[in-house]
Amino acid sequence: MIFSITIFFSFRQIMLSQEDENVKDVITGVTNRLNVESAVLTKATVYQALSPTYTPSDTEVEEDFDQRNLLIGPSGNYEDTLYAEMSAEGVVVRIYSPTSRLLFESKPSDVSFEPKSKLTVNLIDINGKEGISGIAPIYSSQNGILIGYLHVTNALQDYHDMSDQIISAVFLIGVFALLFSGVTGFLLASRFLKPIKNMTSTMNDIRKDTQSQSRIPVSDTNDELAYLSTVFNDMLDKMQQYIEQQKQFVEDVSHELRTPVAVMEGHLKLLNRWGKEDPEILDESLLASLQEVGRMKTLVQEMLDLSRAEQVEIHYKNEKTPIKQVVHQNYNNFKMIHPDFVFNLDDDVDEEIYVSIYRHHLEQILIILLDNAVKYSTDRNEVHLSIASDDKFVHVAIQDFGEGMTPEDADKIFNRFYRVDKARSRHKGGNGLGLSIAKELLLGYKGNISVDSVLNHGSIFRITLPIYKETDDVNEK
Ligand code: ADP
Repeated sequence: MIFSITIFFSFRQIMLSQEDENVKDVITGVTNRLNVESAVLTKATVYQALSPTYTPSDTEVEEDFDQRNLLIGPSGNYEDTLYAEMSAEGVVVRIYSPTSRLLFESKPSDVSFEPKSKLTVNLIDINGKEGISGIAPIYSSQNGILIGYLHVTNALQDYHDMSDQIISAVFLIGVFALLFSGVTGFLLASRFLKPIKNMTSTMNDIRKDTQSQSRIPVSDTNDELAYLSTVFNDMLDKMQQYIEQQKQFVEDVSHELRTPVAVMEGHLKLLNRWGKEDPEILDESLLASLQEVGRMKTLVQEMLDLSRAEQVEIHYKNEKTPIKQVVHQNYNNFKMIHPDFVFNLDDDVDEEIYVSIYRHHLEQILIILLDNAVKYSTDRNEVHLSIASDDKFVHVAIQDFGEGMTPEDADKIFNRFYRVDKARSRHKGGNGLGLSIAKELLLGYKGNISVDSVLNHGSIFRITLPIYKETDDVNEK
């Protein structure tokens, strides 16, 4: 619209100045024809001047010229550019005597005339529209006296027609542009807003039912919105998985607590009824209850460890620990605590290597694995430890020659509260959380744990930990 309006006004300006020039040309042309007279102009002299081919006859008097039509008369010469300009549509040429008597009028016109002492061109109102009026005194070129006035008006017919056309064109283009941009805008907006609508509806579904399987449809446009949808879907998966895990955990915990609580309740009821009178039963019940309390205490501590292990990624990002030192230290500790066991350490790492893990967590993992190795050993009291490394990881293996397990059990032992033989494990003080804690910790540090086991022959647990690199710090930043 701004472009069209600018074009329109520039065009008007150019046309106006052109018409202005035309008026001045007519004034100059007519003046040059008339100023050769030495006396005040009369109808006859004007007629003669403007019709050069006319030969005067003696019988004609001044008034006879009133009837003549100068421009389309017998002697009118349209090849003459002056006549062409004078006869153009909307152009009126009038010539007055010095006393303002009208001597000649090319076309009837009711524009008023006022004598001027010098050439004056200005914009006037002609029949309610803009027009140009030029008034010039005519001085004789022979003696310099004022012999008449020339008044040229131009109703700017072409200019007004052209303006009207341009206005219509601009209006049409404007309406078309508005419609076009409106429709295009609407279509584009709908296209861009569709994924957002989908997102809103998915979010509403989730708000109503946190476990709803509703997901945002991901478009294959590979743009920011598609990326946002993918991230959002992933976040929903994680969140729901987390909720599910929490629910499962609470169920498992209540289940695990039920047994010690039931055992203690049994003993206490027994004591309450008659047992307290019998010192033997009293002793036995108190001992059993204390044992269950101790078990609950370990269970609570282990649950706390597990819950903290899930936070490792956030809280222990840049920790580093010398792997050789910690493995050797635990190897020595276990040798001392279990003198009835043979421990071997096969260390293939020459120089100390730092792994990305918080020292206490590495110790915790090693204790869990060494404890299990001892706990689930049968006849052969032997535990082998080994350390090796490649350019990215350090591998630690802990092998025993005990009861081992079936492949089905090997798939499940890292699950929370899973025990191959619940009663036996419980008897040995196990809650089925140790390996879950170890796995959770290792995954948090981008390491891993796996097991190879043969029933009745023993197991080998392998852990992998990423080697600490100084650049890790930089990358994190
Ligand atoms: P627990 O406290 O019961 O030992 P874990 O999570 O440490 O819990 O182990 C889970 C189960 O995996 C154990 O109950 C046991 O059945 C099995 N397990 C773990 N380590 C060994 C091993 N070295 N040899 C045989 N079985 C094992």
